[in-house]
Amino acid sequence: MSVTSKNQNMKIALCYKTEKIDDELVSNIKEKVLSYGFELNDSCPDVVLFIGGDGTFLRAVHQYYNELHKVKFIGLCKGHLGFFYSYDENQIDALLSDLKRGEVKSESHQLIKATVDNEEIYALNEIRIESPFHTLISDVYINDELLETFRGNGLVVSTSLGSTAYNKSLGGAVIYPSISSMELSEIAPINNTVYHSLHSSLIIDKDSEIVLKTKTDNILLGYDHLNKNVKFASSISLRLSNKVVVLLRNKDYSYTKLLKSKFVGDK
Ligand code: NAD
Repeated sequence: MSVTSKNQNMKIALCYKTEKIDDELVSNIKEKVLSYGFELNDSCPDVVLFIGGDGTFLRAVHQYYNELHKVKFIGLCKGHLGFFYSYDENQIDALLSDLKRGEVKSESHQLIKATVDNEEIYALNEIRIESPFHTLISDVYINDELLETFRGNGLVVSTSLGSTAYNKSLGGAVIYPSISSMELSEIAPINNTVYHSLHSSLIIDKDSEIVLKTKTDNILLGYDHLNKNVKFASSISLRLSNKVVVLLRNKDYSYTKLLKSKFVGDK
């Protein structure tokens, strides 16, 4: 599968956490990139090569957020948990040669969009609405219909790709990323004879909208590794956006194998 029609002149940006990746590794990778006939270019890349763990990919996506329509991402994993990677630290040659020959799989992942007070916020994994000081009270609407009045610590709305992240820790289902959907999961819901919520994760289709009408001030709105304080949000709309991240994988990559290696174990 061809990545670009002019792979020879492909411009590559490197993205990594300077405190986690040593200079020697970075110099080696830069030399390799040039030796394969690619150009190093951080400001206007065709491909962003991210090196590190999953957090590095999230940061790379937000760094190149305005260029998502023309940039593709590929990862070199340094560490043990890497959901967004299909090449290990010692596979830089394989990565560059696959990229040069266009022998990579291309996946597209829709970002989720929250609209709060006319501001749009985008995330690849999930959007979190949390109340650090008081019980979060929020009406939850699915496509204009009231589902419940939620009381608890917070609500997480994740993409299919993000279903293995925070969502999974909350007991949410893992969703194959090829299925476009949103999943709503609860953080520490209050459920007793007076207050009730669904008390289960809810998966909804790609065209649906979730609206949270919150009755609590001082909410923390988290999106991927980022956070924003929302003082008086009355309504937060969540839906899948038309912004797409293109992630390149090794041609032998399979999601089932990834799940097995990261969660189940190889024995
Ligand atoms: P980080 O980079 O240390 O990531 C935290 C953990 O989440 C790491 O173990 C990472 O491998 C894992 N992770 C991230 N995206 C993943 C995905 N799509 N599938 C499986 N695992 C994934 O911390 P950060 O930089 O703050 O990253 C933000 C992400 O951390 C958030 O998007 C959220 O999903 C995750 N997170 C998880 C929890 C939890 O599980 N209780 C709590 C807070 C944040």
